[in-house]
This record gives sequence, structure tokens and C-alpha cells, in this order.
Amino acid sequence: MSKEILEVDQLSVNYGAIKAVRDVSFDIKEGEIVTLIGANGAGKSTILKTISGLLKPANGEIVFLGQSLAKLTAPKIVAAGVSQVPEGRRIFAGMTVKENLQLGAYLRKDKDGVEKDMEAMFKRFPILKERQKQDAATLSGGEQQMLAMARALMARPKLLLLDEPSMGLAPIYIQEIFDIIKSINKEGMTVLLIEQNARQALSIANRGYVLASGEVKMTGTGQDLLNDPAVQKAYLGG
Ligand code: ATP
Repeated sequence: MSKEILEVDQLSVNYGAIKAVRDVSFDIKEGEIVTLIGANGAGKSTILKTISGLLKPANGEIVFLGQSLAKLTAPKIVAAGVSQVPEGRRIFAGMTVKENLQLGAYLRKDKDGVEKDMEAMFKRFPILKERQKQDAATLSGGEQQMLAMARALMARPKLLLLDEPSMGLAPIYIQEIFDIIKSINKEGMTVLLIEQNARQALSIANRGYVLASGEVKMTGTGQDLLNDPAVQKAYLGG
């Protein structure tokens, strides 16, 4: 069996009096795609932001490759090997595509490795190579999502956190983004995927967790959840 890369244990996160995440436990093994699905406000983004150090837990533990993340700052968590692609991409508009990619590697000291990875990103995302000198703001939504993913990969993470990568994209890009996630995973990247698009997310995921009101309600393989009548009714349009 593959080894555990991330273990979230009885995590609770509050915004003041609002208990956004309650006693959530889940784990991810090396090489898996794990997805968290659930309606708006279920707590998915809050969990991701807590793993990446942008929010602090009220309770519980987050252990990444044997190391507790709860007390680390966000840059230290990136340095440990966790990169997040934030909701809404958050690319640096006003900088070129290439500069955005360079910023993804800002913690790395291995210049040669960074250059090599830049070439690898240009190979994987030819559109980014074509547009490398262009202001990132001029890219379409789908291209910006590719840039955000490539930027996160430039940090050479061991775990990639994706927050709603298909949100707001034209249908042709949605399929492409899911295909890219699948192929990045095939090459060995472990992925935690948060999605409103539950059908697509479950169909590429090894395992999924269904969240509602800040709690885990159900878990299973992607396929089992896709076939589950309650999941179908609540999240897959019947
Ligand atoms: P979405 O898909 O809409 O992002 P989500 O499942 O990711 O939904 P969260 O964004 O994690 O859900 O929100 C969980 C709960 O926390 C919701 O009740 C939300 O209203 C609340 N919440 C989120 N951010 C804040 C904030 N900055 N301040 C106060 N409450 C918040």
C-alpha cells in the first residue's frame, strides 16, 4: 500500500462565532487524487486554506509527511512541499506569463532546476510558451487556470491543492483542465481537488469525501460515490 502523504485529523476551523469546519478527518496517500465535494458553504475552501496555512485551526491536526503543519507559516508549508492553486486563479495581472511562473519558484535556489521546469511547463502548456512575454491579464479564463497550475507546479510540490479549478470556465476548457489534472497525477503528483463539479471530480478521483455544513457525511471511492443514489440526488443532478 502507498504511504500516507497527508493526514487531517479532527480538524475544526472557525471564523469568529461561525464554525465553518467541524471535526473533519481524511487522508491522502501518495499518488492519489482525492476530492472534497459539497455545496456552497460546506467548508471545502476553508479546509484547503487551513492546509496551506492561510487560516489557523481551532482544533485538530494536519500532518504532512510526518510533519505537523498547524504551526507553520504559509511560505514554510510551500517549502515543505504543498502548493495551492487558489480559487479564482489569482494570477499576477500586470506581470508576464513567464514572470508569473518564475514567482512560483521564488523559494527555490536551484536555478538550473527552475529553468528545466520552466521548459517542462512550456512543453506541457504550449499556449503558455506562446504567450510567455504577454501580460497574464490578457489570457482567457482557461489559460489563466493553466498558468495558475503551472505556477504552483514550479514550486515542485509533493502535494498539489486545487480549489475549484473548473469554476467559471467555458465548457471546452473544463474538460481540458480535468484532463490536465489526470495527466499530472499519472506522472506522480498527488492531488487534493475541491470542486463544485462533483461528477467530473469524482470521475477522476481515487477517493472522495462528501462535506455538508462543515462535516464529512460520506466517503468512498470516486466510482462508489458516483453510483450512490444519495450523492446522485444531492450533487449530480438526480
Ligand atoms: P464555496 O464553494 O462557496 O467556496 P466552500 O464549501 O468552499 O464553499 P467555505 O468557503 O469554506 O465553503 O465556507 C464555509 C463556511 O464558512 C460558510 O458558512 C461560509 O459562509 C463561511 N465563511 C467562509 N469564509 C468566511 C469568512 N472570511 N468570514 C466568515 N465566514 C466565512
